[in-house]
Amino acid sequence: MADETTQIGPVILLGPPGAGKGTQARNIVERYGIPQISTGDLLRDHVARGTALGLEAKAIMARGELVPDKLMYGIVADRLRAPDCRRGFVLDGFPRTAAQAGWLNAFLGKELFDNSGPCAPLVLQLVVDYGGLLLRLTGRRSCPTCGRLYNIYLQPPRVDELCDVDGTPLIFRDDDREEVIQGRISAYERQTKPLVEYFREQGRLVPVNADRELPQVTAEIFGVIDDHRKKCELAAMKTGSAPRQSN
Ligand SMILES: [Zn+2]
Repeated sequence: MADETTQIGPVILLGPPGAGKGTQARNIVERYGIPQISTGDLLRDHVARGTALGLEAKAIMARGELVPDKLMYGIVADRLRAPDCRRGFVLDGFPRTAAQAGWLNAFLGKELFDNSGPCAPLVLQLVVDYGGLLLRLTGRRSCPTCGRLYNIYLQPPRVDELCDVDGTPLIFRDDDREEVIQGRISAYERQTKPLVEYFREQGRLVPVNADRELPQVTAEIFGVIDDHRKKCELAAMKTGSAPRQSN
């Protein structure tokens, strides 16, 4: 556990569905004691509390429309101004587009953190091999009787397509079909390409090979964050100014 006063700064997690983003976000939260900010959770919370932003979002979603960026910005800004975000936070699922990243950049620079140089937000890109990801997802099978999970490529049952425990024929979810998954992956690639480019141009993108055992991936992520934090502290000492914080 990091010292509760050390500045971690914003950490942004990028990665396709199935790359383990949620798990790594929780690991970061646990180790560094900073909150995880998920826009899905924020929206649900505003709707449940019946805030002005929540009511507006609810009406839009009830019409089957996407919540517009402007409304999302209000919700995210509101959350990032909370005292528990002062040391830093993990963003999961936001920004999704280069436009959102531009807004975040401006907001952080204006209100919360020194936004350039070594204290800039850290962007961790979980990189997976698509062949492997496809095997992980399309190989999933489950037993309808006992609920046990298998993967016909990576963790096969002893007898083909039958549950080890009760011999029930295994089933797979329709959205684990190869076409569906390939569609999801290419939609993700298409949407996030400009976002990835945006962060790469700013020199903030740190690729992490996520095709390894979970503890190895986590260890690398912690190493990158610790390193980033040290560089930021060093820069702050040199200029004699602490990383900027809101009051
Ligand atoms: Zn079973």
